[in-house]
Amino acid sequence: MPIQDNQVVTIQYNLTDADGNLLDTTYEEGPMEFITGSGELLPKLEAEIITMPLNGKKKIVLQPAEAYGDYDPEDIQVVKRDELPDDIELEIGTELLAEVEEDAEEELSCFISKIDGDEITLDFNHPLAGKSLHFEVELTGMRPATQEELEHGHVHGDEEFE
Ligand code: ZN
Repeated sequence: MPIQDNQVVTIQYNLTDADGNLLDTTYEEGPMEFITGSGELLPKLEAEIITMPLNGKKKIVLQPAEAYGDYDPEDIQVVKRDELPDDIELEIGTELLAEVEEDAEEELSCFISKIDGDEITLDFNHPLAGKSLHFEVELTGMRPATQEELEHGHVHGDEEFE
């Protein structure tokens, strides 16, 4: 029986790319919780997790199309160094929010993918676009979500703002 919807599921995971490079891990900052059926997780990842038993471990591989899509080489923008705010750390991988147009209401998240003298390349692809994701998941907890959690659409822990 797969885990039903509206359960708070706790997982720990290591995430690596196809070459085994560690992209993310929960083992340092603590586990991740999500509500089943709430759409918080990538659908394929959730579909695999809900078939796991409590305390089970599983390797789950997502292809780019099942994760953050293909990498779009045209979804970049080259800007001059002085067009960026002064307080930004000019390093490959630094994430920032960019207003795409003047007075744009929406800000898009991007990251610095290239620094060439005065020219900075901002990449608007998701940092994991084009990558296959290799998860090693451990299912460490499970309980029904409370009514309040279901109304808010997220898990309540001991954080101050809920
Ligand atoms: Zn809440």
